[in-house]
This record gives sequence, structure tokens and C-alpha cells, in this order.
Amino acid sequence: MTKPRAALSLMYLLLLARFAAAQAPAASPHPVVLHAARMLDVKAGRIVSPAEILVLGDRIAEVGSTVRHPSGAEVIDVGDRTLLPGLIDSHIHLFLHPGAEDLQTVQESVPERTITAALAAREDLMAGFTAERDMGTEGAGSADTAVRNAINEGRIPGPRHEDAIGYNPEQHILPNATYANSADELVAAMRQQFKEGADFIKIYETGADSIRDGKLSTPYQYSEQQLEAAVKEAARLGRHVAVHATGEPGTLYGAQAGVASIDHADQLSEDTMRLMKEKQIFAVPTFTIFEYFAEHAATPAQGAHEHQILDLKIQEFRKQIAAGIPFAVGSDVGPFPHGTQAREFVLMAKYGMSPLAVLQADLINGAKLLGWEGQIGSLERGYLADIVAVAGDPLQDISVLSNVTFVMKNGVVYKK
Ligand SMILES: [Zn+2]
Ligand SMILES: [Zn+2]
Repeated sequence: MTKPRAALSLMYLLLLARFAAAQAPAASPHPVVLHAARMLDVKAGRIVSPAEILVLGDRIAEVGSTVRHPSGAEVIDVGDRTLLPGLIDSHIHLFLHPGAEDLQTVQESVPERTITAALAAREDLMAGFTAERDMGTEGAGSADTAVRNAINEGRIPGPRHEDAIGYNPEQHILPNATYANSADELVAAMRQQFKEGADFIKIYETGADSIRDGKLSTPYQYSEQQLEAAVKEAARLGRHVAVHATGEPGTLYGAQAGVASIDHADQLSEDTMRLMKEKQIFAVPTFTIFEYFAEHAATPAQGAHEHQILDLKIQEFRKQIAAGIPFAVGSDVGPFPHGTQAREFVLMAKYGMSPLAVLQADLINGAKLLGWEGQIGSLERGYLADIVAVAGDPLQDISVLSNVTFVMKNGVVYKK
């Protein structure tokens, strides 16, 4: 009895997969030529004008001031706008929404949170973010892999997706993340999470944060050796580890262990910055969440504390730029409304980077961090057709990225 039934359910799954594939919004069956007043060449750091892109299926086939117009091509003229690669957010939480960050993870059921996450994915895509790295569900287990798969199969609209799961010592309401108390437990938790579909692992390395004598104080959770064991285990499967790490010595341990990114990175020692530059470990500052918390604190005392941390972060960011460490752009959207995270570009520019440097960090470094180098992050022949448009010139005024008015992902137009 058991065997035929097992075979039957396998068949059913295969049928479901086929059905899902049939439902996916396909890239246009005919060639598409995008025409615009301008286009960003992010690698060269210049604006091309006028601009045309030929899209065949889900790929970019040709890019230039003029391109081939094959017979039957549909021309989409976006007029006085700038075409640029789909934006990348390297630090997001689809499973979080504004409001108590810890309480929502226990008051709302996982099915409810999954529906909210699917809606959040749509918001992010419509805001021009065509690829994202999801830093964990905070208690919804591997439900994010279901959302990712549905997006990748084209069943629901959303950005390309990388997923993680982690343990969070800062949250007061439990249980909302996976615990691991030793290198062995870390490896065991990671194996389970990879089995459930995680693309990478995010580890809460530091917290909770306080400021003492102008210095950030934050206890570390794992030693360098423990993080090294985690990095090794991830590497075994060709995956990477990211750390939530705000300050020393946790950030140094992460850099020594060879993590792919240090997220938040409020205060970094000279040694840490040297290693990050050497090993090309990305700092992901996530200014937007710090600004949001400072402006939406529950009490004046809490607000003052958040402002103090933000001020320190701004001051340290200048040192990090001067030290030449590589950055990626991640907003930590979720605790603040999905679809509004282009604010991160504005803040990184405001606190010391040129608009071009911010865009290169977002698109070139973001593609590397997400493991899609050579596929996304640039408008080039052979790249996936993830293309957005904004009014104005983002190299002159980066805030134009807050108003993306055209979105194509994988050759499919979602907004125009
Ligand atoms: Zn974090
Ligand atoms: Zn986060």
C-alpha cells in the first residue's frame, strides 16, 4: 500500500510543478526594444544618451545609443527617463512589517506572515528592486523559501531572492530564531536550514548595543573559531555566511573567519577594515533602519539612544569610506514599509559617498554578494533583462531612485 501511494504523490508533485511553470508570466515572445533619453553605464560611471536596449526573452541582447530593431519588435519608448539595471537590496526582511518587531513574530501565525511577505515582495519589486537578499524570517522558519520559490517560478511578483535563517539575541520575545550554542550546534542548525532551502546563512554575531564613552559596546555571540566552522560548513556547499555585527570584537571575528558581509557595521577597528579590504568583505550599513528607529522611537529616551547610535554610525562611515572597504547597499526594510527602501541610496550619499559610488556598491557589489555576478547589476549583452527607469539623472540626484516608474524583471514588464 505504501509504495504505490508514494509514487502517486511524487507524480502529483511533478504535475503541480508543470502547472506552476505554465502559469508563470512569460517574457515577451517577440523582441522588445526599450528606448529612452538616457541610460546608466554603471561600470564606466557615465550616462549614455540616447539609449536603446534590445531584449530577447529574459535576456539583454544588445545595448547602445541605437540597437537592431528585429522585425516584429515591440518598441517601448519610456521618453525622458534614465534606464538603469534593476536595483538590488542586499539586506531585507520580507517577513517583517512596521510595528513591534518581536511581538509580530509570535502574535501572527506563519501562514498570515507568509501572505504578508508575498505582498511585501510585490511592493519591493514595484519600487524597482529586482533582486534582494532576505536576512531571515524571524521565527517563520523556512517559510521564506516557499515565497522565494513562488517568485522564481513566476507564480507571484517579487524580486529575485536569496534566503537566510538565523538566531537573534537582541529580540526579547522567544522563540523567534534558531539557537546554536557551539560550533557543532551551528553546523547542525546550518545543515537543517540548507536542507530546508536556505541559500546562505545569517548569524547574529553581536548585540545588544549600548554606547559607553563614545564607543559602541556590543557583546559577541560566537568566537572566531566558531564563525570559522560556520564559514567552512557553508563553503562546503558553495554558500556564504553573513553576520549581523555592529561592533568589535564581533566584527573582527567575522572578518577573520571570512564571512561574505558584515551587516550594520556601525564601528569597525583598523584591523577589521584592513581585513575587509583584503578579503573583499562587504559592509552593508543599513542606515535607513537606524534613521527610522531614531524617528519612530516609543519614548524620548529610546529616541535619544537611537540618535546617538546613528550619529556614531555616520561618523564611523566616513572612516570606512576613507579606509577603502567595499560596500553593498542594504536597507533592512521590513521594520519600515516595504517599497520605501530607496532611502538607503540617499543616506549613503548624504553621509559621504558619491551617487556613482553608491550605485556601483548597489549594483556591482550587490550582484557579487548575491552570487549573480555577470547576470544582474549591469545593462550588458547576455545579462538578465532586469531593467528599471527613473525620471532625471541618478548621478546628479540620487533621490530620483525613490520614484521608479518602469520595472522589467526577467524580460517581463511589471510597471510602465
Ligand atoms: Zn541585523
Ligand atoms: Zn536585518
